[in-house]
Amino acid sequence: MVFDKEESVSLVPLQSKGKPRVCAGCNRRIRERFMLQALDRYWHEDCLKCACCDCRLGELGSTLFTRANLILCRRDYLRLFGMTGNCAACSKIIPAFEMVMRAKDNVYHLDCFACQLCSQRFYIGDRFFLKNNKIVCQQDYEGDHQNGHSETH
Ligand SMILES: [Zn+2]
Ligand SMILES: [Zn+2]
Ligand SMILES: [Zn+2]
Ligand SMILES: [Zn+2]
Repeated sequence: MVFDKEESVSLVPLQSKGKPRVCAGCNRRIRERFMLQALDRYWHEDCLKCACCDCRLGELGSTLFTRANLILCRRDYLRLFGMTGNCAACSKIIPAFEMVMRAKDNVYHLDCFACQLCSQRFYIGDRFFLKNNKIVCQQDYEGDHQNGHSETH
């Protein structure tokens, strides 16, 4: 998955001898002992917040995401922009942070990844087949095959 922009947030000490730092959030001088550095700018710990949920990104500790001038926490970024796609079985959206199963270009909820004919669940190592863009188990795949075969006799 490709993020538009994932940036690290680091807590850095304010150097008393260095030139004054201005917070990119509120444009005021930073006088605290520590400040956040992100997006090549400096921020008060209180000023670097997720545009969506207002959580302090410095406390989440590591990364923020930017898109269209929004600064977002990972959770909101994924919620807003990180859809994986629609489940090929139930057609509902699969959020990006959810585990998915893939078969060719199709993605499935873990719960939906079952034979679409007999509902048998697949487990790791099981063979599955794509037929008319449906996932089917080996039995159903071969069963149909054999029927088709016998009809020609
Ligand atoms: Zn500030
Ligand atoms: Zn957020
Ligand atoms: Zn589904
Ligand atoms: Zn089946």
